[in-house]
Amino acid sequence: LEFRRVLFRSAGPIYDDNGALLAVVETLRDISVQKRSQTALERLASVDGLTGVLNRRGFDEQMALEWSRARSNGLPITLLMIDVDNFKSFNDHYGHPMGDECLRTVARVLGEAVLRPNDIVARYGGEEFAFILPGADATGADVVATRIRTLMAEAAIPHSAGGIEGHVTVSVGGATVMPHTEASALDLICHADAALYQAKSSGRNCFVAWQQC
Ligand code: GH3
Ligand code: MG
Ligand code: MG
Repeated sequence: LEFRRVLFRSAGPIYDDNGALLAVVETLRDISVQKRSQTALERLASVDGLTGVLNRRGFDEQMALEWSRARSNGLPITLLMIDVDNFKSFNDHYGHPMGDECLRTVARVLGEAVLRPNDIVARYGGEEFAFILPGADATGADVVATRIRTLMAEAAIPHSAGGIEGHVTVSVGGATVMPHTEASALDLICHADAALYQAKSSGRNCFVAWQQC
């Protein structure tokens, strides 16, 4: 943790009985404590209460930031969208509290799958998560997606409901772009989403990368 002093400076005039300026009193107030709790609150507003990873708001903030960063440094950026397979039947069979526990485990596993300190894990919504991988190319995307599915297999969360025999799996859709083109961060999300949809229709528990035509 980094503790920096935050000082608040204010100045107030002092007048004599005739309204002439006598002096200016400058006050220097240490507001480090207030500033620190404000930062903590801001951070809290971006964290998902259930899983502890970034929430949608945090994702949006980081996405905008990483997009412009990638744009200025000319590096590729990868977005992975990860959706838990057959989660509705998991909930129906095991109940919502177990469903919540499952999401917590998935979030923890996903946290282990990222390799670089700048990689970002977020809960995009419901049983859908997102990875922002700054600087990662298509090969990097493939490596991380494979790690996700391997770690999920190792976590082995039982799922034997609705005709499914085995463990909770995830489908992953990925998109990699060079952001110096005309594209926006929203295009990247749409591409990754389209790839995820393909992964679902190809039978789930797989990774599909969006290909630029
Ligand atoms: P698919 O393989 O196509 O992704 O099917 P699915 O059943 O996973 O997808 P669907 O969108 O039909 O169901 C998602 C389910 O996720 C339904 C919803 O109740 C559940 N869900 C979303 N958020 C939460 C949550 O915070 N906790 C729990 N327990 N369930 C959640
Ligand atoms: Mg799902
Ligand atoms: Mg979903």
